[in-house]
Amino acid sequence: MRYRQPLETLTQSRRPTKDEPPSGPREPEVRPAPTSIPCFRPIIGEAEIEAVTEVLRSGWLTTGAKAREFEQSFAAFMGGDVEAVAVNSATAGLHLAAEACGIGPGDEVLVPTLTFTATASVIRYLGAEIVLVDVEEGTRCIDLDQAERRLTPRCKAIMPVHFAGYPCDMVEVLAFARRHGLRVIEDAAHALPTRRDGRLIGSWDSDATVFSFYASKPITTGEGGMIVTRDPKIAVRARTMRTHGLDRDAFDRFRKVGASWSYDVVAPGFKYNLTDVAAAVGVVQLSRAESFQLSRQRAAERYLEKLAGLPVECPTPAPQGGLHAWHMFPIRVNETARANRDMLIAGLTAESIGTSVHYRPLHEMTYWKERYRCEPDDFPVASRYFAGAVTLPLFPGMTDDEIDRVVAVVRNILE
Ligand SMILES: *Cc1c(COP(=O)(O)O)cnc(C)c1O
Repeated sequence: MRYRQPLETLTQSRRPTKDEPPSGPREPEVRPAPTSIPCFRPIIGEAEIEAVTEVLRSGWLTTGAKAREFEQSFAAFMGGDVEAVAVNSATAGLHLAAEACGIGPGDEVLVPTLTFTATASVIRYLGAEIVLVDVEEGTRCIDLDQAERRLTPRCKAIMPVHFAGYPCDMVEVLAFARRHGLRVIEDAAHALPTRRDGRLIGSWDSDATVFSFYASKPITTGEGGMIVTRDPKIAVRARTMRTHGLDRDAFDRFRKVGASWSYDVVAPGFKYNLTDVAAAVGVVQLSRAESFQLSRQRAAERYLEKLAGLPVECPTPAPQGGLHAWHMFPIRVNETARANRDMLIAGLTAESIGTSVHYRPLHEMTYWKERYRCEPDDFPVASRYFAGAVTLPLFPGMTDDEIDRVVAVVRNILE
């Protein structure tokens, strides 16, 4: 089935309702297909399209004034007093952050097993090793007691992942890191905006926090990412390494007429800069981040209410003083249910309802399993969660009817 991404704003109605007459003559025996509900739907409005058009007409396409504006807006969104460095993916951002923290051969980094592979891959890019850690029941964030047990003298950093937008306990993470002399790189790919103890994820005292603007993330630029840091040394190093290790980027050379050919290479860097075309989308999307979160939160609250009593474990809401980004809605089918995870996914698919699974844990993936000789029961919490995991549709502007339809199918299959 082909799925076209509709262009729309939050307020526009999306589809003809079932009461509207069909546009042409219809065969009486053809049953209308159930309207599909995607697992996620990016929201792109006219403002994003206009912003891109403006950049395309301007004559400057790569990293320039728009990327700078996006960085400044992002730093301001985080409350100021931080540096934001725009990159072309969160993977690139995590790589640059770890490089700037000096992670290299001989080092180890603590990574939760329940995450996307990128969190761990960037550590291997640098020739260092990861140490997988199980997650907590409920929050599905890295379990610090387990991290303590797996700690070795070679551990140099910890990478907490704010799973699905649930805010990790940053007071505890930072205390743990201080106790053991670790750097902290937060994977905030799901976490915009997210708060813990009233404080935004991205504004805490970790070494760096990295956000993703991939198509299915809380805000999007198609592909993109942002490194946020309070450490000017990390910001400078990340800026240098994102453009080939040059001491000045193309826009800087362009602005200073007469010296555009003159630059030095100070390190063997990467090519991780964000284009102005993408940054233009990002500036608009960032201005909508809070309304997107609110809309997802309303949908999540309805799910929590309607799914209560069914044999599923729902995501844990943020504690007092926190804000859950509700980037997604991953549930776990209980062992007592009438059907298992695969049957639930098949049933939802048959009703044109999109699902996903976040995630098959890294210790069950061939590369990581073989490299670190993992056994399936090494990380019991993550494994048990994965066995029943299904991510239900959740996106800004999801209607009550859409949520109720998903819940009705879940109820039918599991009860
Ligand atoms: C999406 C994601 C990433 C990678 O983001 P990209 O922008 O696609 O590179 C990293 N970590 C987690 C947890 C993610 O979900």
